[in-house]
Amino acid sequence: MEPKKTVLIVEDEKNIVDIVCFNLQREGYATLEAYDGEDGLEKAQRSKPDLILLDVMLPKMNGFDVCRALRESRNNVPVVILTAREEETDKVLGLEIGADDYITKPFSMRELIARVGANIRRLGMASPLAASAADGAMTVAGDLAVNTDSHQVFRSGEVIELTQREYELLTFLASHPNKVYARIDLMEQVWNYGYVGDDARTVDVTVRRLREKIETDPANPRYILTRRGAGYYFAT
Ligand code: CA
Repeated sequence: MEPKKTVLIVEDEKNIVDIVCFNLQREGYATLEAYDGEDGLEKAQRSKPDLILLDVMLPKMNGFDVCRALRESRNNVPVVILTAREEETDKVLGLEIGADDYITKPFSMRELIARVGANIRRLGMASPLAASAADGAMTVAGDLAVNTDSHQVFRSGEVIELTQREYELLTFLASHPNKVYARIDLMEQVWNYGYVGDDARTVDVTVRRLREKIETDPANPRYILTRRGAGYYFAT
């Protein structure tokens, strides 16, 4: 039997933590709890959870600072931000500092479970590049190389630190070179669920972050290109 996946919940509202833990455990997850940002960061680094549900407004250290600190220490654990409804800026800021996804409060348990599953599950999935490469090893375009066994991306031989979602977006686009994908298609294929309306902004932010990491000149990208009005594609 596969070991249980562990979800760390960083949230100062005890009633939310209780109901989330109860539902996650019922779905077969192990859970860890933290009630302030400092403890959340400490548990994230010490206990190595498979995913973090991270509230924004927290005592001692807010969720954004926790996420930023994780990414700065090269911890690429999937992070799902819990935001209050209507706070659009929270969503975008969360993604810009390296969160993988967000869910707005109040959320249904069904939605939460789906989100957790979508963000954890893909860690264990074979990359599309692995299936197309003869030996699953290095796939190169220009100075960019991907090792689908180790999930590492290199530019000119240097390792580039990507979050799980950035890695998945890159490998998905790169495994279908020169094919243009609309944002809504990328939400389905890479984020694993359909989104509508303003949530497509998630794709734009992730593309921008990815460009900042893999492109020599992010303002004039050579790998991840925009086809205006249509979507994004990986150029060879
Ligand atoms: Ca809170």
